[in-house]
Formats: sequence, structure tokens, C-alpha cells
Amino acid sequence: MKEKIIISGAGLVGSLWAILLAKRGYQIEVYERRPDMRKSNLGGGRSINLALSTRGWKALQKAGIDQDIKKIALPMKGRMMHDTQGNLTFQAYGKEDQAIYSVSRGELNKKLMDLAESHDNVSFYFNKRTLKIDTNNCDLHLFDEDNKEKLSKSADFIFGADGAFSAIRNSLQKTPLFNYSQSYLEHGYKELTIPATSSGDYALDHESLHIWPRGQFMLIALPNLDKSFTCTLFLPFQGEESFEKLKKDKEILLFFNKYFKDAVPLMPSLLEDFKENPNSSLVTIKCNPWQYKEKILLMGDASHAIVPFYGQGMNSGFEDCSILDEMADEYQEDWATIFRQFSKTRPQDANGIADLAIRNFIEMRDLVGDPMFLLRKKIAAWLYELYPNDFMPLYSMVTFSHINYYDAWIQGNRQDELFEKILAIPNIENDWKNDRVIEVFEEWKNNS
Ligand SMILES: Cc1cc2nc3c(=O)[nH]c(=O)nc-3n(C[C@H](O)[C@H](O)[C@H](O)COP(=O)(O)OP(=O)(O)OC[C@H]3O[C@@H](n4cnc5c(N)ncnc54)[C@H](O)[C@@H]3O)c2cc1C
Repeated sequence: MKEKIIISGAGLVGSLWAILLAKRGYQIEVYERRPDMRKSNLGGGRSINLALSTRGWKALQKAGIDQDIKKIALPMKGRMMHDTQGNLTFQAYGKEDQAIYSVSRGELNKKLMDLAESHDNVSFYFNKRTLKIDTNNCDLHLFDEDNKEKLSKSADFIFGADGAFSAIRNSLQKTPLFNYSQSYLEHGYKELTIPATSSGDYALDHESLHIWPRGQFMLIALPNLDKSFTCTLFLPFQGEESFEKLKKDKEILLFFNKYFKDAVPLMPSLLEDFKENPNSSLVTIKCNPWQYKEKILLMGDASHAIVPFYGQGMNSGFEDCSILDEMADEYQEDWATIFRQFSKTRPQDANGIADLAIRNFIEMRDLVGDPMFLLRKKIAAWLYELYPNDFMPLYSMVTFSHINYYDAWIQGNRQDELFEKILAIPNIENDWKNDRVIEVFEEWKNNS
């Protein structure tokens, strides 16, 4: 019989990783702090939907479950920008056949658990909260919420997939040479809803991710299978326009009518949602090393939580799974070597996407409404068409490719230099498909 493996956390990454390991024949125990979400209603404020893209799909495909997930995912082909007057501008995310997919976090998590549990060698244990890792013998200490008792579990390998506030990482933080940083954005988020219309249809185009960019803040909306949209308001906690200023009904309505006028009639429960749903915070977590004594490995948000503006948190966690799975083939399941290698190479990519995600926040809330930014996007798409082997827009590298995040980050910086030159060409706004643009591009390419 193959080794016993424990996974702490039955979230998106823990559940998917359980499936990939089950297919290799290991004995897997997954310990989850919360009750089984398939049996209990965890309530509002947690029905965030996520954008699933190429890196995530690859891991699902490796697990042989991509078709199951396709059934609960909706394609979004581009961004639909809403200006303050209610005018709409559509911007495709990639080439014609490319899309990112909206999927409910709760539904996806439930499906992944079902699929994991269909393997005889996977067992889930709910209401079992990881307290710590004993860093001497690598045993896992749990608190059993049902029986109100402490438990100790041992295994050959332990994976910490217990999210941004990982108890396993917390134990490792106390060991020598463990580096850790955590930084909060001054913005928080709140979930709101646009229900289906009275005739049972989508209230907005459902093949788009809707954005109301407003400089320091923004509202976004992603479609759900039940024809509703889950909206997320990203807003500073404090300041002129902020959560702290929106307490009374009048203040909330004034704010929404000023900035999101076209959305207000579509949100009949705006006031209730706004007051009932929590203001949640957004954190970036970086740490290193991710492995301990070649027995414990952190993955997903536990080792690299990022802000959600590139839609890559889950995707990068799923990519952890596909990379580890590939390494398992490459190193014949020699996990000690895999842990060391993964912990050496992967954090650089995680840091790359963390920085790109912060940068994309500025793009989404601010620049997507800027004509020069839109022009840059158009020129980038044109260059991609003309030179598919030499140029790929940054968004496509991150979302529709498997290029290392770190390399995408480096190339993105180089593309900034290119577009600084292109956008400085006189009269570029009126004439951008011209020889001068090609000349500047060729020069940039030859200097690469
Ligand atoms: C507003 C918002 C929007 C987002 N949008 C996107 C998006 O569009 N695309 C994308 O790719 N990502 C997105 N993300 C990020 C994504 O949600 C996370 O990256 C993803 O959920 C990480 O998965 P995980 O399994 O590592 O962690 P989690 O999903 O947090 O799962 C961790 C699990 O561990 C459990 N746990 C925690 N502590 C313990 C403990 N002590 N003992 C046992 N169990 C424990 C938790 O209950 C949970 O089940 C978004 C995040 C936010 C906040």
C-alpha cells in the first residue's frame, strides 16, 4: 500500500490535490475546519464567484474532471465597461475563441469534494481544525469541534492547503529562516447581487465580466448559472468615498446613484445586501521556504495569497497542483526531492503574480476607462495578430498561457517600455495601424 498523506483544508486547492493524489493510489485524509458545506448552508457573503482560466483548466484536465466543471462554468469573452452615463464599451479578453469562466466558489468546492470522495482512498473529516504542526516530529494537532477534544495525527507527508490564514504556516513561521510578509490593501470588498429579471433572464450581457471603473474604487459583476450576477464592490475602508462613510440608507443610495446609476435599478435588494454582507479585507501573503523537513508542504493561498484583480488566486493554486503532479512523474514520486525543488522554484512565480495582481487593480479600477489605455490594448491585439511568435499581450500571458508568472512579469515590464514609445508617436490616436508603429516594434524586438 502507498504512503499515507494528510491534507489540511478542504478548500479548492486541498480538494483538487486530493483527487490528483488519489489517482496515484495514496491513502488520503483531508481535515477541514468548517462543517461539510454540502450539508450546511454557510449563508450569504460567501457566494463569491471566481474567474477560472487556462492554468486552472489544465489542472482540472489532469485530474480528469474538466468536463464536470465545465457544466457549472459560464464563459466570459471580455470586459464590459460601464461609464457614469451608463454607456457600455466591450473589450475582448483575448482571441475570438478565448474566454475566462465564471464559477461559483461554493458550487466548485462542493463539486471538487464530491469528485474527491468518489475515490475510495480519500476521506474527508469536517469540523476538525488544525491547531499546529509539531515541528519536532511533524505530527498534526487538530481540534475536533464535534467532540471538543484535541487529536494528534501523523502521516508520511502533510500538505497545508488551509488558506490565507494557514495554521500550518503559522507553525512554520516560528522555525528558523522562515521568511514571511503580509500586507493588506487599504480597500475592502463587499458582495452584492443583481437577480434574474422578472421574465427570468439575465439583466446584463452574460458573456461579459462587467466593470464600473471609478478611479479609487470599482464595482464588478460576474454571471451565475441561475441568471443572476454576483457583484463585488471594491472600496477603501476609510476616506472620502469609503465603507466608513456609507452607513445610513441615504448615504448608500446617494453613493450608488452617483457612481453606478445604471446598476441601481437592477439591484432591488441593494440596501439589505449592503447592510447584511460583511466588508472583507484583501491581503497579499508571501513566504519562503514552503517546505519543512521534506515532510510538509504549503500550497495555494497558504503559501501565496494574492489580491483578486488578475483572477489568478485559485488558478495559481490549481497550477501548484499541476506542477506538483508533473514533478511527481519527473521524480518518480520522490517527494523529498519534489518538496525541495518546488519550494526553490515556485515562490518566484507566486511573487510575480502577486505583484501583477496589485498592478491590475490600478488597471481595472482606473485605466480601463482611459482612451489611451484602450488604444494600447487595441495596438497590442494587432501586434499579437501580426507577430504571434514574438509578442503576446501581458493579459494573455497570464490568463491564456502557461508561461511562468515571473517571466510574464518581466516581459510585461518590457512591454511598458514598448508602449511608452508607441503611444508617444504623433497623431497615434487617429492613425495607429501604421509603419511607424511597426518600426518601433521591430526595434524593440531586436533589442530583446
Ligand atoms: C473577492 C475575491 C475574488 C476572487 N476572485 C478570484 C478569481 O476570479 N479567480 C481566481 O483564480 N481566484 C480568485 N480569488 C482567490 C481564490 O478565492 C483563492 O485563491 C482560493 O480560494 C484559494 O484556494 P485555497 O484552497 O488555497 O484556499 P481556500 O479556498 O481559502 O481554502 C482553505 C480551506 O482551508 C480551511 N481551513 C482554514 N483554516 C483551517 C484550519 N486551521 N484547519 C483546517 N482547515 C482550515 C478553510 O475552511 C477552507 O476550506 C478571489 C478571492 C477573493 C477574496
